[in-house]
Amino acid sequence: SKITIAIDGFSSTGKSTVAKQLAKSLGYVYVDTGAMYRAVAFYAMSHGFIDGNHFDKSGLIENLGRINISFKFNEALGFAEVYLNGVNIEKQIRTLEVSGFVSTVAAVSEVRHKLVEQQQQMGKDKGLVMDGRDIGTVVFPDAELKLFMTASAETRAQRRYKELIDRGDEVVYDEVLKNVQERDYIDTHREDSPLVKADDAIEIDNSNMTLEEQFKVILDLVNK
Ligand code: C5P
Repeated sequence: SKITIAIDGFSSTGKSTVAKQLAKSLGYVYVDTGAMYRAVAFYAMSHGFIDGNHFDKSGLIENLGRINISFKFNEALGFAEVYLNGVNIEKQIRTLEVSGFVSTVAAVSEVRHKLVEQQQQMGKDKGLVMDGRDIGTVVFPDAELKLFMTASAETRAQRRYKELIDRGDEVVYDEVLKNVQERDYIDTHREDSPLVKADDAIEIDNSNMTLEEQFKVILDLVNK
């Protein structure tokens, strides 16, 4: 019978790549919760709640009711793209600029409350793979399978750097590494639902694993 699979871990550990592939092979629904936090960060930036280094937190909180996040499956891509108030923002949320603010926005309790509620609603039916930072601890503490992905900061920064370069962004490796380290710090130190491995999560360090190797390990766990 179908189960709920929670995949948590640090930034750029390849959670989404594994989660997408897993969902596809099991015929499950995949939800990228990072995209939802990125959508809120993008909203905050495009509506003037983030200006330079100033963050108008109460302004964003007051306007949370105006933020409607949805997903729509893209057949050609094979996964669901994220929409903000009906507009596809999948491309806009992957920039280093959004990455630079997303963890600050994700530390706001009101933002987390709104998104966690929506995530629980989306996962009501089993047959779900959800990735994020707090899925196994907060969103679905009863998930049948919990994975916690790790890799060294350098390995992760290399992967993210390659992704950004491949999509044509002009970035410097040191800045990507700095962003990865800053997000690790904010995600693990925030007061509300800090990033922590759930006691019953299985840790997978994929610094030296190919995608195929990771996938095999995970499929064995699903079939156990
Ligand atoms: O997974 P991704 O790197 O796209 O997530 C972007 C950011 O969103 C993370 O660095 C984290 O600050 C936040 N996030 C979170 N809780 C989640 C998913 C993402 O706080 N469940």
